[in-house]
Amino acid sequence: MARYTGPSCRLCRREGQKLFLKGDRCYSGKCALERRSYAPGQHGQGRKKASDYGLQLREKQKAKRFYGLQETQFRNYFDKAARKSGMTGENLLIMLETRLDNTVFRMGFASSRKEARQLVLHGHFTVNGKKADIPSQAVKAGDVIAVKEKSVSIEKFKEIKEMTISTPEWVSINPDKLEGKVLAIPTRAQIDTPVAEHLIVELYSK
Ligand code: SF4
Repeated sequence: MARYTGPSCRLCRREGQKLFLKGDRCYSGKCALERRSYAPGQHGQGRKKASDYGLQLREKQKAKRFYGLQETQFRNYFDKAARKSGMTGENLLIMLETRLDNTVFRMGFASSRKEARQLVLHGHFTVNGKKADIPSQAVKAGDVIAVKEKSVSIEKFKEIKEMTISTPEWVSINPDKLEGKVLAIPTRAQIDTPVAEHLIVELYSK
């Protein structure tokens, strides 16, 4: 699956919003968006007001980049969300939020979604005791995600045991055991991703 390999900070500057793609750096004064809060490129400081289409497009790009997906994957999620009952935009965000890589990030096992994806791909986690190395795996209420026994000695995970981690209310974590539990599928209100999903629905409904 193709991946964006360019500079992460450029994506935040393009969206005019922190997408938190670089872990700890995003919370420091080194954040590129804090130092250059305008769009990248020659015309970055002189862009005109966006059209309705432009706003919808930006919202879709932002959601895609938050969760680190490419267009085809994102569109597939949208199509699945549209086939489910309920509000398509909400379904979409809930499906993105319950990806295994995002859940690992939300549990505090990684400092960014990108890092979470890497850790999952490298096989450091189990779900309900079984190997889980597919970042897109959808988690369910009651699932227990744990650091694999062979991986607990990795420095990154040892540090987690010493940390106080705050998680969203739909997951819990036991740092001593290096495992977390999905308490419930999140509601839209429990997802703090700053995306206006109705604009994405409008875009794809054209
Ligand atoms: Fe975005 Fe993080 Fe780079 Fe800041 S440091 S621009 S939040 S990726």
